[in-house]
Amino acid sequence: MSLLEVSDLHVSFRTTDGDVRAVRGVSFELDSGRTLGIVGESGSGKSVCTQTLLGLTTGARVRGTARFEGEDLLSMSEDEFRAVRGAKIAAIFQDPLSSLHPLYKVGWQIVEMIRAHEPVSRAAARRRAVELLGLVGIPHPAQRIDDYPHQFSGGMRQRALIAMALALEPKLVIADEPTTALDATVQAQILDLLLRLQQETGMALIMITHDLGVIAGLADEVMVMYAGRAAERADRRGLYYRAHHPYTNGLLESIPSSSAAGARLRPIPGQPPSLIRLPPGCAFHPRCAFAMDRCTREQPELTPVEDGAGHTSACWLPGRLLGTTEEMKRARQDASAAGRTVERVPGQGTGQDASVEEGAA
Ligand code: SF4
Repeated sequence: MSLLEVSDLHVSFRTTDGDVRAVRGVSFELDSGRTLGIVGESGSGKSVCTQTLLGLTTGARVRGTARFEGEDLLSMSEDEFRAVRGAKIAAIFQDPLSSLHPLYKVGWQIVEMIRAHEPVSRAAARRRAVELLGLVGIPHPAQRIDDYPHQFSGGMRQRALIAMALALEPKLVIADEPTTALDATVQAQILDLLLRLQQETGMALIMITHDLGVIAGLADEVMVMYAGRAAERADRRGLYYRAHHPYTNGLLESIPSSSAAGARLRPIPGQPPSLIRLPPGCAFHPRCAFAMDRCTREQPELTPVEDGAGHTSACWLPGRLLGTTEEMKRARQDASAAGRTVERVPGQGTGQDASVEEGAA
């Protein structure tokens, strides 16, 4: 049994314009000590999916199961959920300034969080808070514990949030775009920190991001989401070197690469669909250069692709790696004639080789 088993998760929100179908039948598993990267554009359902696991989608209609240590999170009462959230499943969000209360000292907030879950004295909780701030690399933690959030830099605030998330030694940490607001150097430091802490504590980690480059050195497995569904799932090596789904290939093409200095980034044409009025068939078909008649009628399910190792893709395209280079050339010509773009020959020029370790998966 995996630490977390999510099966056929559906989440929708009722609005005056109609139902927003934010998550549509997502399944995944995660073991202790492993990292799952969930990737997709805004509106792909990646954050709603994990917020549901944290019980933060109040008012949503939810169905499916999400078993954590064998217990279904989705059928827990609010009291039961509260005992799990923070203590066993912790979250790190994108904007530490809005996650930390500006009027309370950083240390006080960590101490209160510890005492809300554990019967320890204020002095013991404070000692633990100092330890945690030191663990995440805050210099002089015994002094900085009495700083207010505005006295910390952006990177230090994010480290403080990580300290808070780790305070109760959770078994699962969900990090939702934890480095988006940070510059590249601090981003790399925070990712290194998460990796080190995971190795030290054995926690499972879900990393949510819109940027495949961010998790290239971190994730054991990657799930690419589009319009509320999983478009592709693979281990790190399979996804970065043998991506199958045209959407995944588009995301890979949008990663800046030092080996392709001077080359223009290639955005995926078009916009994600409305989650109220989804296109029929494959939701990606209006943007896909490979779309066939079948794609406009029938929705593909995740099915294994030829390289095995659990690599699955929800796409009607036959064969491995979107066919041969010749087929790619033809698709490019067809797309060009139709005013669209097919930019990438899979496996070439993605630049992921700079950051994905060969043989690491
Ligand atoms: Fe493109 Fe069709 Fe595959 Fe969807 S199913 S990604 S439209 S080829």
